[in-house]
Amino acid sequence: MNFYVMTLFPEMIEKGVQSSILGRAGQNGLLSVEAVNIRDYTEDKHKKVDDYPYGGGAGMLMQAQPVYDCCRAVQEKIDAKKGGGTGEKAKVIYLTPQGKTFHQGMAKELAKEEDIIFLCGHYEGIDERVLEEIVTDYVSIGDYILTGGELPALVMIDAIARLVPGVLSNETSADVETFYNGLLEYPQYSRPEKWKGKNVPSVLLSGDHKKIEQWRLEQSEKRTEECRPDLYKKYLCRKNLAEKLMKENKVLYVDMWECLQLDKGEILYDGEEGAVVWNREDELLMMAAFREEGAEKIFQYMPEYEKELQVILHQEFLMPLMEEKYRLTEIKICKRAAYNRKTPLPVSKEIEIRQLDISYTEEILAHYHLGSEEYIKERLLNGCMFGAFVEGKMAGFIGTHIEGSIGMLEVYEEYRRRGIAESLESYIINTRLSKGLLPYGDIIVGNEPSFGLQRKLGLKITKENFYWVVAFSLHLW
Ligand code: SAM
Repeated sequence: MNFYVMTLFPEMIEKGVQSSILGRAGQNGLLSVEAVNIRDYTEDKHKKVDDYPYGGGAGMLMQAQPVYDCCRAVQEKIDAKKGGGTGEKAKVIYLTPQGKTFHQGMAKELAKEEDIIFLCGHYEGIDERVLEEIVTDYVSIGDYILTGGELPALVMIDAIARLVPGVLSNETSADVETFYNGLLEYPQYSRPEKWKGKNVPSVLLSGDHKKIEQWRLEQSEKRTEECRPDLYKKYLCRKNLAEKLMKENKVLYVDMWECLQLDKGEILYDGEEGAVVWNREDELLMMAAFREEGAEKIFQYMPEYEKELQVILHQEFLMPLMEEKYRLTEIKICKRAAYNRKTPLPVSKEIEIRQLDISYTEEILAHYHLGSEEYIKERLLNGCMFGAFVEGKMAGFIGTHIEGSIGMLEVYEEYRRRGIAESLESYIINTRLSKGLLPYGDIIVGNEPSFGLQRKLGLKITKENFYWVVAFSLHLW
């Protein structure tokens, strides 16, 4: 990922990204941060970039010309890097106290971009005309006024960069932090056990992981209720719906449960007829209708979406209603299998299973044809793919999809019927269990070998079919 920061003080940016995690990610080639000096683009012979505001008032304003030319130069550079003439334009984010307030969800969205250009203002700000011309997003880091946009740009770069796959060395560390499940993080303690007469809470020394998890959740809830009642209210809504869905059908609605549990999206509707959940992070809409009567009501809560929309319809009777409003370009009829127990599954000791890194991209693509190169790379960088090795050679692999379902299972022809698929699936089920998740997979109706494997491992399979569709609004078609 590449960040370009247009600024009058490039040294502030350069110093800010040199050390620690950002510095290391830069050296490893996972991201680049380039500070571009707006002053280099002024046509003024004295290198002036600011002037008095028309109509009077205190302070100076950054002028349009240098900012515009600087931005054009950066955009041309990005275009040239991509081979030229792509017509794609990187986002240009103006840091301003008048923008939308930056938050974790925005950071996650922006982490998907390849290039981002930041524009830092100074003095009283920037001539409005150039902002109208080049800016795509206006973002503030909070309701206070700073002297310039450099610190806000660094704040945003830091928050976005740590979500870029591979930047944090420990895959789990981005998982269990404040805002991960919409709760503030629990208190933490390190050595010594007693400090200034204060003891570390005894539960943390008990070695009982279940109790520790429970204590941490209670502490997180308590903290959030006290310090951030706004977040706590949203958390309770998600928790209530998650419990309701689990009661209705634990296996069928596990995708919605997981999305709510991990705070990956928002509830668009929660009522007697059913629920609509928008998984914002993975751009996936999930619809559940508890009965056929009145099911059309939940369609009122579909989001306005200008692109193709991935939808999971949990009931067959939702299909005709969907087809009335959308053009469906792909339809997959599936059943869902979920591992409902808490006990980990045995994994054969004869097969070595380990997490795969990016160097396995080609090998995976040679055997698995349902995902793009970009998708497989992203999964590998996020530590979501595992390989089985026999005598040092890869014999097969498995992974989790972006929304959490287990899939991409392949065992190479010559290694079949040796229990490798069982071991791979058992292994990944165990890793999901250790994260407090309910392991599940979606199986296309007709894939009998896969259904056989799920039954053998003790997964519960839904009686009913559900539908994965790709939909376009009819007015866009
Ligand atoms: N006159 C401007 C106004 O009232 O909106 C404030 C200008 S401020 C002194 C100078 C620059 O600092 C802004 O152009 C902006 O780039 C940056 N800045 C200040 N506070 C900020 C905040 N809370 N979030 C993002 N950028 C900020």
